[in-house]
Amino acid sequence: MVDLWMPGAAQHSLGNTGVMDGGPARAVWHITSNDSDHTFANEFGWFTGGGADVAPHLLWDPFTGQIAQMFPADSRSLSLQNDGTVRTNRTGKYCIQIETVFTQGEIVNGKTYNTVADTPCKGLDAIVTWLRSLGIADGWPAGAPTGFHRQDVTLDFWLNHGGHYGHNMVPGNSHVDPGPMPAGMFGSSPKPSTKPQVSLEHIVYAAQHDPPAAQGHTSYKTEVLLVEKALQAEKLLAAQYVDGSYGSLTVNAYARWQKSLGYSGSAADGIPGMTSLKKLGAKHGFDVVA
Ligand SMILES: [Zn+2]
Repeated sequence: MVDLWMPGAAQHSLGNTGVMDGGPARAVWHITSNDSDHTFANEFGWFTGGGADVAPHLLWDPFTGQIAQMFPADSRSLSLQNDGTVRTNRTGKYCIQIETVFTQGEIVNGKTYNTVADTPCKGLDAIVTWLRSLGIADGWPAGAPTGFHRQDVTLDFWLNHGGHYGHNMVPGNSHVDPGPMPAGMFGSSPKPSTKPQVSLEHIVYAAQHDPPAAQGHTSYKTEVLLVEKALQAEKLLAAQYVDGSYGSLTVNAYARWQKSLGYSGSAADGIPGMTSLKKLGAKHGFDVVA
């Protein structure tokens, strides 16, 4: 089951729902672009009052992270113009429209903001996560918005491609919002780990060739120290033996770690395997590579 109401968003149903026409699911991004008013409260008052006939699904404040939802995901919202007889608000299984409370050049706490991408974008990850859960593909099928100008797609393209659009791309519309959005909004690459790495091969070598430092493998010593500190934290190795040398006391300590995980016999011989070392690293702040 999908959540038709975004988890964490304040729910303010306007009623007045309308069925969708079907097709690939999409999202359309807007900015409120109001020269005299930059506040979430007043924009919200507009869309739930006099502006209810142009209301989006979501109203989002990228400075505070405030989000309100006015239509369920499976209803059309109302922020787009028709293209001739095609009601673009209804295109797709979902056509989630997001009004960002933002105006080009607005000043917040003395700083001027020219694009949504410049703002803290607080709450954007949660919005993208929800859109993804509805089956809306990450990315901009017609390219990301590059500025406050039109980037029209053809009606055929609009009807047949899901994903994310700017209002400035939708056929039959004349608006130029939302302008540039954050390049990383779809989190294309996972953040690299900042934890130190321990090589299983190095640790096994160190365990079998004592002492490693004497044999010129100084980097192994750094890795052995990480393992020994973890064993010490598990109360399996006394502090005075945390020395970067994988000697017999470290072998015995590691064997106790293996036994604590349920291993026995030769599987608990104090020479690390990938599974036991990864479990130790996960608890004590290092990654394990082959
Ligand atoms: Zn718009």
